Amino acid sequence: MACSKAWTRHVDEKILTEHFGLANLYEIEAYLERGGYRAVTKALQEMTPDGIMDEVKKAGLRGRGGAGFPAGMKWSFVPKTSDKPKYLCVNADEGEPGTFKDRYILTHNPHLLIEGIIIASFSVGIHAAYVYIRGEYEAVAQRLEQALAQAAQKGYLGKSILETGFDLDVFVHRGAGAYICGEETALLESLEGKRGHPRLKPPFPATVGLFQCPTVINNVETLANIPAIIQKGAPWFLDKGLAKDGGTRIFGVSGPVVRPGIYELPVGTSLREIIYTHAGGLKPGKKLKAVIPGGMSAPILKADEIDIKMDFDSLAGVGSMLGSAAVIVIDEATPILDVLKKVAKFYAHESCGQCTPCRIGTSWIHKIIKRMSAGHGEKGDVDELVRLASNIKGKTLCPMGDAASLPVLSLAQKFKNELESCLKDGSG
Ligand code: SF4
Repeated sequence: MACSKAWTRHVDEKILTEHFGLANLYEIEAYLERGGYRAVTKALQEMTPDGIMDEVKKAGLRGRGGAGFPAGMKWSFVPKTSDKPKYLCVNADEGEPGTFKDRYILTHNPHLLIEGIIIASFSVGIHAAYVYIRGEYEAVAQRLEQALAQAAQKGYLGKSILETGFDLDVFVHRGAGAYICGEETALLESLEGKRGHPRLKPPFPATVGLFQCPTVINNVETLANIPAIIQKGAPWFLDKGLAKDGGTRIFGVSGPVVRPGIYELPVGTSLREIIYTHAGGLKPGKKLKAVIPGGMSAPILKADEIDIKMDFDSLAGVGSMLGSAAVIVIDEATPILDVLKKVAKFYAHESCGQCTPCRIGTSWIHKIIKRMSAGHGEKGDVDELVRLASNIKGKTLCPMGDAASLPVLSLAQKFKNELESCLKDGSG
């Protein structure tokens, strides 16, 4: 789907990163000076839980973690009345290669997330929330814990927040670096103190989640959008993006571009604009070869496919995905075999091993690619990669099977000629 200029109209308006760069924004005093916690005050004192949920639904906020499920609808799947406690789990695992957006939110503006947690919990009737943060984010976790302590000290967490009778405690839990713990049910297992093995679904976490209780699982960026929706309203938020996909995204751009980094832009901004306008294009002397548009598990796009809107539906329409909106730029000098090797090694290592197609398939793919990289590739190897990846896709217990197979399929199919030129006889 081609993109039009109209999508850039709100390009300078930021929702999440507006105050990034201001010193001490992570301190509650600085955050309060810039209007912080007003959304919590409005939500708890002027709105009903159902009213908040409706506003989030109308805002068209889709999950920012990867799947893109509408956030308000996800909340509504949790039973209103339950004889068990309900929980909120915040997915701050951010293990998808190429992805580093949540780290910025947590580092620069942790109170924005805390506000989102409070409002979401009030809406769903939750009194305990857990932030599952990847183990490598040591300093980030410390900053979040400091922000939580400040929020509690000011009366925004704990007993009877703002004297409304609503109680909420938030806990930080550090993961141990397993990619699979970013999958929501593996995250729950890990949080319960068990090995991070994904669960079979159904039942879904909304009814049987953490400690077998109803649970909402939201990404950091998703929740960080909630205060703005409550403060400024659903129409304002929706207008920032597309009709069914409101707001902005934080695009994390990496690779040989002039200005790698994060860019908060309207949902639907074109991939070309992100790379060439915001990230400054490729470094001098470099030429674009391909782009992975949504974290390493997203199928690759060739250089002539970047006139595409960066939203869930547009990317799905060309066989790729928006995922975590992590844009990985690849230049002409980078051999596709090297890209494939990194992808294959990662997934072979991270497969939890519960299901055979993923466990065996990823290790065989890795084995073939290692052979090709060593200069011992054989005729038919590229076709064999396609066959193996096809046998994983859609046949596994959790979405990692697709995450592991889709990039291999797209790389092997779109760059077949280049990969076959690496084989022993160069003919495939
Ligand atoms: Fe584990 Fe892979 Fe199966 Fe997911 S698809 S449960 S990571 S073996």
